[in-house]
Amino acid sequence: MTGSFTEKLHHGLGTIYDAENVYFDSDTDHQRLVIFKSVRFGRMMMLDGVTQTTEADEFIYHEMLTHVPILAHGAVRKVLSIGGGDGGMLREALRHKSVEKVTMVEIDPIVVELSRQHLPNHSQGAFDDPRTDLVFADGAAFAANPIDTYDVMIIDSTDPIGPGEVLFESGFYANTRKCLNPGGIVVTQNGVPFMQADELKGTLRHLRHFYKDASCYIATVPTYVCGPMAFGWGTDEPAHRQVPAGEIAKRYAASGLQTRYVNAEIHKAAFALPNFLRDMIA
Ligand code: SAM
Repeated sequence: MTGSFTEKLHHGLGTIYDAENVYFDSDTDHQRLVIFKSVRFGRMMMLDGVTQTTEADEFIYHEMLTHVPILAHGAVRKVLSIGGGDGGMLREALRHKSVEKVTMVEIDPIVVELSRQHLPNHSQGAFDDPRTDLVFADGAAFAANPIDTYDVMIIDSTDPIGPGEVLFESGFYANTRKCLNPGGIVVTQNGVPFMQADELKGTLRHLRHFYKDASCYIATVPTYVCGPMAFGWGTDEPAHRQVPAGEIAKRYAASGLQTRYVNAEIHKAAFALPNFLRDMIA
């Protein structure tokens, strides 16, 4: 063992990850980036001391973040990702035969460079896919003047710390509308509501203001500690969230996806919220 890294995202709580090998631990122009091999979760990344992604459980997060909106929509050709520099979400989006282009707007080129080098199982060549359009820029600035419009927009960002803060502000959510085609869907990584209630409430307040249908869906990712995490959901097409189970099952079957977590039943069930969460976002 070569030491450990402690996450202190949540006040009064720390999560210690014993490290076998440290690949990178330094500041970039935007944040503190650490990539190391943990004893329990394989290779993992932390940004500004917050766990971003691990080899052991990233499949849960990236499958739920990507396939739920794409298959709910049903006719996605273009996807926009804000953040996502580890490449896991890009990998999953490119599995869809209907997807012609994924524009990934990542503020930190070093995250991409070092993820390609030290987290190869995340991107699995996705950065070199001819459908990948990689833009190094602030996602908030991009959304204000997007170069194209998209069917699904995925905010695969850090928590509202450092460069990620602007992606939780009203102006950014307003500008997501400029990025979406009619009937498009925006989804957000919105933390663990049991510990980060204000973030989810804030996001939904904005999404409700800018979209006809706003809600969230949930999944438990072990290294996002203290309960299920929430994915924010916004669209002007309420039918996307109400697609009947049989139709969702058909779409999963037709997609040919080989997934380790999401399936049609999980997709539908993810929108069933426990009462404390329903009350939180009411
Ligand atoms: N799965 C992770 C999670 O849920 O916490 C997110 C992973 S990904 C590594 C988060 C990415 O968001 C980072 O690469 C970070 O550089 C990027 N990011 C943060 N703020 C950004 C901004 N304003 N514009 C574009 N990318 C941003």
